[in-house]
Amino acid sequence: MRKCVGCNVSRPQKELVRLACADGRVFVDRDGKAPGRGVYLCPDASCVKKAKKKNALQRSFGVAIDAGKLEELLKEVEDNGKT
Ligand SMILES: [Zn+2]
Repeated sequence: MRKCVGCNVSRPQKELVRLACADGRVFVDRDGKAPGRGVYLCPDASCVKKAKKKNALQRSFGVAIDAGKLEELLKEVEDNGKT
């Protein structure tokens, strides 16, 4: 079980989208296999919104993410839930 950084609910890993960070750059880890620390989010608009409000990704990874890039990442997380 992994905890979503948006809603703080634990869910099976396959129901969540993993984000990873390499060289200070955050990306959506579609295969869930990228090395390093992972942060999990439900592919759900309300969780994405919560994560954004809390700066959850920046805080979890300890890196700055510019606003445009963050939008892009979060949109990708949301889109994952639609497929
Ligand atoms: Zn969530």
